[in-house]
Amino acid sequence: MNGPRAKGLVTLVGAGPGDPELLTVKAVRAIRRATVVLVDDLVGDGVLRYARRSARTVYVGKRGGCASTPQAFIEKLMIAEAQRGERVVRLKGGDPFVFGRGGEEAEHLRAAGVQVEVVNGITSGLAAATALGVPLTHRDHARGVMLVTGHAKEGGSAPHWPTLGAAAAQGLTLVVYMGVSQLEAIVDGLSSALPATTPAALVQAATTAAERRLVSTLDRLAADARAHAIGSPAVLIIGDVLRGAAALLQVDEPSNPAQRAAS
Ligand code: SAH
Repeated sequence: MNGPRAKGLVTLVGAGPGDPELLTVKAVRAIRRATVVLVDDLVGDGVLRYARRSARTVYVGKRGGCASTPQAFIEKLMIAEAQRGERVVRLKGGDPFVFGRGGEEAEHLRAAGVQVEVVNGITSGLAAATALGVPLTHRDHARGVMLVTGHAKEGGSAPHWPTLGAAAAQGLTLVVYMGVSQLEAIVDGLSSALPATTPAALVQAATTAAERRLVSTLDRLAADARAHAIGSPAVLIIGDVLRGAAALLQVDEPSNPAQRAAS
């Protein structure tokens, strides 16, 4: 995949959903070896404990209220550092190849002659389901899973929610990333194909101290989310696999008092 003239190496490492204990052994090894670490917004702080003190750490997310670093700049930096012989790790939330532009980064790096290695991470959609105690493919309820973004690429078209709702009605559990700001439109679109009582859940900040879980039904989800101030980052899960978890409306307040005061 990489040409014979490839110079330098970048490892795209999945940092998982937040809890550092969910890192893979391979991820920890790569982080330990790194001399330059580029860190995304949704990477849990605890993950960086494995980096060398001498490593150069560059935050490229929206932390501190700044606009996120432009993608082109991040890629240029990775290429330059890798070509200088630095051991570059690009830490990405969840899995590097589930949304979050890991694929684009790998393509651009390879095009620049830089070798790319990818280390899987636990994607937040799976972590969110586990936080609810729900198997996404419980065979009594589902025959598969759809991982969908609620957010269209700039200039791209939004997913056609009625079609995805019809697929969900066929037993495909729907897992939506980046959907909180579009919640009303998503629920609206799905409702043409799914009963109002279809179980629907949101998990915010899965596997972190600030984790919150809301289990509701399609018709009430948007109002419940608003009432409980569920915000990003959160994963939306829709489907009958939630039946066990959906017996009642359940919002677990965060254990962190500062978070509680803010919501
Ligand atoms: N590569 C990431 C996804 C990046 S897109 C992964 O595999 O998880 C960013 C979206 O991921 C957020 O809008 C949110 O929907 C989801 N997300 C990331 N971390 C999360 C977490 N800890 N809890 C809930 N959702 C999360």
